[in-house]
Amino acid sequence: MSDCIFCKIRDKEIPADIVFEDDKCVAFRDANPAAPVHILVIPRQHISVISEISDTSQDVVGHIYRVIAELAGNLGIAESGYRVVANCNSDGGQTVFHIHFHLLGGRQLGWPPV
Ligand code: AMP
Repeated sequence: MSDCIFCKIRDKEIPADIVFEDDKCVAFRDANPAAPVHILVIPRQHISVISEISDTSQDVVGHIYRVIAELAGNLGIAESGYRVVANCNSDGGQTVFHIHFHLLGGRQLGWPPV
């Protein structure tokens, strides 16, 4: 998608603090962090919303969760705990329409989200 900001980060057309990437996903620090650790993990493939995940693209979600678990360990929050969030559409608070998984940690997180 030519106008997708996360595709541009994936393609290194705009800068981001990339902490991990492989053939299936890219992880980078959120530009407006909501916690001491706030990483976004995106599939390389452009998928706009969770409801567009298909039979052929679903495997990347499991892969991303494995990457998140490894990142959490590397970033020192595996033991203290963390949260993984994927917002969908307006009520879910999605603002960037390339699916992404927020990895949040480094402080006590409130529940439920307001
Ligand atoms: P969401 O509201 O779930 O769609 O999350 C989008 C996230 O992307 C927000 O937390 C933003 O702070 C973050 N974000 C937007 N633009 C950038 C960017 N250029 N680099 C890093 N994070 C970004």
